[in-house]
Amino acid sequence: MKNATRVIHAGLLPASQGNAFSNGITFAAPYHTVGDPTTSEYTYGRYHNPTWTQFEQALSELEGGIAVSFASGMAAIAAVLGTSLRPGDVIVLPSDSYYTFRLLVEDFFVQMGVQVRKATTVDNAQIAHLDGAKLLWLETPSNPGLDVCDIAVLVQAAHERGVLVAVDNTTPTVLGQCPLALGADFSVASDTKALTGHSDLVLGHVAVHDSAWANKLRTWRTRMGAIPGPMEIWLAHRSLATLEMRLERQCRNALTIAEYLLTRPDVTSLRYPGLPSDPGHKLAIRQMQFFGPVVSFVLADQKCAEQFLNACSLIIESTSFGGVHTTAERRARWGGDAVVEGFIRLSVGCEDSDDLISDMSQALDMVKQAG
Ligand code: PLP
Repeated sequence: MKNATRVIHAGLLPASQGNAFSNGITFAAPYHTVGDPTTSEYTYGRYHNPTWTQFEQALSELEGGIAVSFASGMAAIAAVLGTSLRPGDVIVLPSDSYYTFRLLVEDFFVQMGVQVRKATTVDNAQIAHLDGAKLLWLETPSNPGLDVCDIAVLVQAAHERGVLVAVDNTTPTVLGQCPLALGADFSVASDTKALTGHSDLVLGHVAVHDSAWANKLRTWRTRMGAIPGPMEIWLAHRSLATLEMRLERQCRNALTIAEYLLTRPDVTSLRYPGLPSDPGHKLAIRQMQFFGPVVSFVLADQKCAEQFLNACSLIIESTSFGGVHTTAERRARWGGDAVVEGFIRLSVGCEDSDDLISDMSQALDMVKQAG
């Protein structure tokens, strides 16, 4: 079955006379539970929820594994770290990965005795740091730099040394890149981004091959209480049906915009893994089915980047990415990423690309005139 079909049918109930295609939302704290609680499918809302069950079924089908949902992408990341790392263990992570993930490791896991080794995403640089490690963390394309590493090659090198591998797959989503199929042990994502794509909820998930590890993740979720709300899960499942269509449009728009930006002398350091001239393209084409909605580029300095964002009327200045509305931000305003002051992260949405290009074009011209 093709992905465009799969996302529409994933997790639906078997068709039956007079019934809806999917269950509605179950809002419940306790469930009526008589006697021995192990005989009841649902007992208490921190343990399980039928709305989660249906969405996790859908994600599991797409991931080719067993998916467990969490309250946010960070809660999903914390569950992988918390179930795999113990004091004295070594984690190898990308020095250019999502900033808050690196903060979580430094501020909490390092304080508990976990050791960190860092290397950049580009050139599979993490391979050199694997000996004696417990967990290799990958993020490809990296956020926000959009460098790409070879998941299958890194997984092989890690597994030869007994190292577990987790991939933060937020930017491409499971339709853009399938970490479990490339051999990874954990596929982790913020579903706040393109997977759900409407900028109206915060969620995350982890998918694994191993049912024993899925149980560990569920136990972690129950004990920590990092549970998703049923309303968010229901919205996410509803949004999933359009994932392929959204990605197809977003990635086509992203490539068109990247090609336009290449023609602008005032734009430098343009990155989009879908662009044939991008340093990561040859590798991306081998492991990605969609190159994702994120494009990055650099304007002369902070002032030019701020003027550009102010001058855009259609493109909304905001953080996050992956939604149907095109957004952009000057990433250095947050600190923590190795980016220059004029670095812009652009998340391309589903609008008409002609409208987006004319908005960018008038904004870039305005910056040029102001300079
Ligand atoms: N991973 C990546 C690559 C991200 O960009 C983000 C958020 O921006 C996260 C994880 C965390 O996700 P959430 O904000 O849903 O907790």
